[in-house]
Amino acid sequence: MNNLTAKLPTTTPIEIPLGYLNIMGYIDESKVNGPGCRGVVWVQGCTKGCSGCFNPDSWFFDINELISIEELANKILNNPQNTGVTFSGGEPFLQAPALAELAKILKYRGLNILSFSGFTLVELQSKNAPVGSQELLSQLDVLIDGPFIETLAIHSPYSLVSSSNQRVRIFNPELKNQLNWARNHLEIHVSKDGSEIFTRYWG
Ligand code: SF4
Repeated sequence: MNNLTAKLPTTTPIEIPLGYLNIMGYIDESKVNGPGCRGVVWVQGCTKGCSGCFNPDSWFFDINELISIEELANKILNNPQNTGVTFSGGEPFLQAPALAELAKILKYRGLNILSFSGFTLVELQSKNAPVGSQELLSQLDVLIDGPFIETLAIHSPYSLVSSSNQRVRIFNPELKNQLNWARNHLEIHVSKDGSEIFTRYWG
């Protein structure tokens, strides 16, 4: 394929089959992405374009890995070490209806749910919020909201947010004493096919 015919990455949301998520990756048993031990789902696609974003490969909306809500729920529930799940990205609220469905299944089985968002809580509660935002918000135990603003960056591995405009919203008071996951650790998860995912807490 020459440069004239090469397909450019998709930078606006695309339709995803009902009952599915387009994810960038998934890991089990992370201790640096929320309280306790958790599954982490990185969704594919974000429109914010924050300068200094920790994960720019997640911006594009092209299908990376389509997974059904049921299959992903089973993956998370099949590991008894997972006591919660974190939605990261990419922008979780651009796939809010499917994530809300997934969260409902997991909460019913006793897991807690944390989500990051580049939108502010006020934006997520407004009439211009992405479809399904209210439904997803109603399932969350913790929300960390707001875009990453490079000029407000906090350069500390011990901060729960990575720029000072961001907020940690604790909707479940039982988790108030568990805000201790930000630490100076890098996790390396190796999957069955030998590929590796590196994750640390960036706020
Ligand atoms: S909202 Fe998050 S994923 Fe999206 S560009 Fe900003 S930092 Fe990156």
